[in-house]
Order: sequence, then structure tokens, then C-alpha cells
Amino acid sequence: MAKKNITVIGSINMDLVTKTEQVPMMGETLLGEAFYTIPGGKGANQAVAAARLGAEVSMIGCVGDDPFGRELLAHLGRESIHTDAIKVVAEVSTGIASITLSGGDNSIIVVPGANYHVTPEFVAGHEELIAASDIILLQLEIPMESVEMASSIAKKYNVKVILNPAPFQPIPDRLLENADYFTPNEHEQKLLLSHDWSEEKRESFLRKCIVTQGEKGVSIFSGTQIDIPGYKVKAIDTTGAGDTFNGALAYSLSEGMGLSEACRFANAAAALSVTKLGAQGGMPTKFEVNEFLR
Ligand code: ADP
Repeated sequence: MAKKNITVIGSINMDLVTKTEQVPMMGETLLGEAFYTIPGGKGANQAVAAARLGAEVSMIGCVGDDPFGRELLAHLGRESIHTDAIKVVAEVSTGIASITLSGGDNSIIVVPGANYHVTPEFVAGHEELIAASDIILLQLEIPMESVEMASSIAKKYNVKVILNPAPFQPIPDRLLENADYFTPNEHEQKLLLSHDWSEEKRESFLRKCIVTQGEKGVSIFSGTQIDIPGYKVKAIDTTGAGDTFNGALAYSLSEGMGLSEACRFANAAAALSVTKLGAQGGMPTKFEVNEFLR
């Protein structure tokens, strides 16, 4: 059977991680313990998750014309992701997240850089790619209007839309209509429901919700609430659990699984991902998920 096409329209970042015993105060200089660069960005993470499982994944996004951008393009290519729709933008930096880890806590500065060059016009320029997809996968690390544009093009061609509403931002009406599934975590769900929606809009949002709840798994709200429990594993690093869940959900739905079965599969993929370090580091292959579920 032909592989299914998943297109991710979203962010591509380099995470710059500094480990330090103490966080400097303003104006202070300290020696840190270690420094790493790790590919990240919710868009790229979810694309990698789906590609590892065996989907045909294309990414629409932007990087800067700098060493991080070139490294990330090569990295996505090595993960078998089609990068033709990733533009290298001159005179802007690749998106970065500067993460300081200190005694189990972290503080983060995100600079969207090239990710904010994923404009509605740029997305519209890739209409054919979106039209040829089985599913598109969206997050909120590119401009909201671009996310809306992607969802509208998808709807025009009857392509399914998954929106992972992270990081939290209020969801405009057009997106509320166009999305087939929303995948907030519990925290994002709470914030979204505090929105001043009419009863009808609230209902329509809830019916499309798959709420991830860490080790507890997920709840689906289509009709009555269905809880799909997570899998017990030894968690080493839960960074990117949600991204793995989303990539795996896109994969399992594109393969024609029903919603509950697709969530079970995505729970298993996400559980496996937390047993290893790094957001992308632990993302499993289809073989690994099947072995785990045997
Ligand atoms: P986010 O990473 O976006 O905050 P969650 O913490 O809700 O999202 O995790 C997403 C999914 O990852 C969960 O629904 C579950 O399937 C899986 N998961 C997360 N943490 C664990 C864990 N400790 N053990 C097993 N599965 C987990």
C-alpha cells in the first residue's frame, strides 16, 4: 500500500541548551557546566515523529541563512522528511530556543526568527502540496494567520487538519471551524476553555478535542468522554512527549485507524519517547511501537 502523505506546516528551531549550577543575575557572568545544540521546534519535532513511524512527511517552513539553518535542513533530510518546501530566508536568524537548565528547573527564551517568515502568502504558495496530503499537522509557533491559511487550503481539498494548540493562544473562529482535531494538553485545554465562547462554539471545540494528560494518557470528547489510558514506562525525559503524540496521531489516523485505536497507538509512541533523552531522541520507529504493543 502507498505510504500516506502528511504535511507539517510549522516551526523549525535549534535548541541551545546550557546546563548550569546557578542562573546568573542581570549583569552577572557565571561559568556553566555544559552546552548542547539540539534540533527542535514543535513543527520539526512532530514531522520527525511521523517520519520515524514510516509516513511520507513534507515540511513547510523557514530557516535562516546561517549554520543552524543549514544543519537543521540536513538533519530533517536525514530523517527522510521532504524539505523542498522549506525556504532559506536571508538576513534573519534561524529560530532558536535558548534553554537554561539549573537544578531540575529551566528558563527559556524563544526567538522565532525565520519561523515568522512563514507568512500566509508563503503557505498559499504551497497549495498543491497541501492538496496532495492525507493529513496536515499544525501548531502555533508560526503566525496565526498562516496557520489559518493552511487550514483553509486543507479544507478546500478535504484534507484532514490536526491542530496542536501550543503554545497557548486563543483560537480564531476560522481555525475552530477548519480543524478536525485539537490536541491540547490539560493546561492548554484549561486556558482554551476560559475563552469567552458561545455555548455552540465551546461544544464544537470540545467535540474535536483529544486532551493529552501526561502519563494518564488522553481523553476524547467526541460525544461522551472516552479515556484512553497511557502506558506505564520509566520516564527519563518527557520533553517532546506531546510532539511525539501528535506526529504519531497524524500517522495512525492517516493509516485509517479509528480515533480510539489511533490514540492508543499514539500513547504507545509517546510513552516510548519519554524513556530516552531529548525531544526527538526517543521518538520510536513503527517496529519499536509494534514490539512494545505485542
Ligand atoms: P505535553 O508534552 O504537550 O505537555 P503531555 O505531557 O500530556 O503533553 O504528554 C503527551 C502524551 O505523552 C500523553 O498523552 C501520553 O501519551 C504520553 N506521556 C507523557 N508523559 C508520559 C509518562 N510519564 N509516561 C507515559 N506516557 C507519557
